[in-house]
Amino acid sequence: MAKHQFQTEANQILQLMIHSLYSNKEIFLRELISNGSDALDKLNMLVLTDEQYKNVTFNPRIDIIVNKEEKTLTLKDSGIGMNEADLINNIGTIAKSGTKAFIESLSGDQKKDSKLIGQFGVGFYAAFMVAHKVEVISKKAGEEQAFIWTSAGDGEFELEISTREGHGTTIILHLNDDEGEFLEAHRITSIIEKYSNHIPFPIFMDKENYVAAKKDDDGNEIEPSRTDIVNEQVNKANALWTISKSEISDDEYKDFYKSIGHDSTDPLLWMHNKAEGAIEYTTLFYVPSKAPMDMYRVDYQAGIKLYINRVFITDDEKELMPTYLRFLRGVIDSKDLPLNVSREILQNNAVLAKIKNASVKKVLSEFSKMAKNNAANYETFITEFGNVLKEGLYSDFGNREKILDLLRFNSLNSEEKVALEDFIKNVDEEKKEIYYITAKSSVSMLKNNPALERFKAKNIDVLILNEEVDTIVFPMVNEYKEYKLINVTDAKFDENEDDKKAKEESKKEFDLLTKEIKNALGEEIKEVEVTFDLTSSAVAIKEDKEDPSYMMAQMMRQMGQGKDIPLPKPILQINPNHELIKKLKNSADTNLIADASHVLLDQAKLFNGMEIDDIPAFITKLNRIMEKAL
Ligand code: ADP
Repeated sequence: MAKHQFQTEANQILQLMIHSLYSNKEIFLRELISNGSDALDKLNMLVLTDEQYKNVTFNPRIDIIVNKEEKTLTLKDSGIGMNEADLINNIGTIAKSGTKAFIESLSGDQKKDSKLIGQFGVGFYAAFMVAHKVEVISKKAGEEQAFIWTSAGDGEFELEISTREGHGTTIILHLNDDEGEFLEAHRITSIIEKYSNHIPFPIFMDKENYVAAKKDDDGNEIEPSRTDIVNEQVNKANALWTISKSEISDDEYKDFYKSIGHDSTDPLLWMHNKAEGAIEYTTLFYVPSKAPMDMYRVDYQAGIKLYINRVFITDDEKELMPTYLRFLRGVIDSKDLPLNVSREILQNNAVLAKIKNASVKKVLSEFSKMAKNNAANYETFITEFGNVLKEGLYSDFGNREKILDLLRFNSLNSEEKVALEDFIKNVDEEKKEIYYITAKSSVSMLKNNPALERFKAKNIDVLILNEEVDTIVFPMVNEYKEYKLINVTDAKFDENEDDKKAKEESKKEFDLLTKEIKNALGEEIKEVEVTFDLTSSAVAIKEDKEDPSYMMAQMMRQMGQGKDIPLPKPILQINPNHELIKKLKNSADTNLIADASHVLLDQAKLFNGMEIDDIPAFITKLNRIMEKAL
């Protein structure tokens, strides 16, 4: 008998599962049935497409067997099965990114952590919520040898050779003493109807049928009453997406989502669409009400299953829908694709490309309907998925305007988030310019950024884009409808000749100070310029339009793409009307000017969400200035 250790992460999940206060234990059945259904899906495809499996008999079914004396609940499927290596790799290891993300978000606080479980698909390990021992007997289709995997959920599992009639997997749960409810046929049936009614394969179970005593006309018993055991199909087993909309209840839609999305929470929205025409296909998409935990991981799990005429093809193809819609869950099913598609063919398939394009349009228009019809849901939607949608602004040029319409923005003059459509109502109709400020920062910090002072003075509204993704995406978005999008630092306003002259004069007066500051700061900045755009601040910094954005460069450094990428140097702007700058101009203390230059640059950097390189030096200089002032 070979003993194996669980991978540490698998063990962590297990321990949490066993000891957590999780109140929704019944989902273990949903998870195990869903695994069985996946195994049947996989074999179904191989039998239809792979020569090697031509002779495998495919009699798809899942059986549930209750043994009250032994207190065991058994699930049997006639799916693809697992060999020795599969058993070790698939259920002794954690391969799923969602699970990894889950482990990383564990806090160690059991109450909090058990709530987290509900938000993510728990998979096979859910078995240990109700069982103290689990046996998995499996034989892979096309192979001779069966194996038995056994574990008490205590960090180890055992693996031995075994026997099994035919291919597939049998899971025997030795239930804990207080889990007797899961030995009751009516309880099991109701869980299956709730979560697994519409998996595409039949689930069978023995049920006790009470037959009343037979009596003759005089009321004498001819046959006594008895209880028959009948083996019955307990689920509908009709792939939900193939049924017409009018015959599906909201609850059925929700339950189906929970089974394919491994989520315990209701979805925010679903979209069921049947296209008939040149290409026939059906799609059923769901938007979760919470962002999937692995949404921002590179190895996130794709959420769309591809079926060809009800035969499952893949759930691991990230290109079925664009990545900026990677939070969608659901199904694409078409008759017009060849069954034996390889991954490469899938990616270059014209039919699939058409389905994808049409689906994206449909999905975006459903989002915009939600915006009109259900404000509360839409707010949740934008909070959870707004930042992911923004990625579409550079990856899906064709739908850029639609995506811009869906987004909601903070703005200088408004307390609530606004749609661009509404924002432009207050834009100067002659200039048709939408101004924005962007830096990774808080909204309130950005609203106080010196670069906005001239807009405040003129009472012009500005979009406040404070997310990291904004700093990367918006420099690439140049227009919305007939309006130009312009960074506040690039905005130009007309002025009369007299004003221009006065400014030129004033600039000259500050020539010397400008040089002194540049000397003091040396390579830290690109140049110093006098600006008339500031009112209350002494200084501000601006990025040179020709340079790559500071945030972009910093992000590339963080991602390890060359620590050597130089961070672009900013331009330091000084306000000639500010008392501090005026006094500096008149000062003869070169040490003071040098210290002040550094401190002013650092405060301007902080305002823009940049880091200051040398905090002790900043404090020393600040203190020297204060000493002089006192
Ligand atoms: P998930 O199903 O989300 O991948 P699980 O922890 O539930 O995660 O299962 C891990 C893996 O074990 C599955 O991906 C599959 O490869 C394998 N597996 C689980 N149950 C079965 C089964 N009944 N038949 C065949 N393979 C299975």
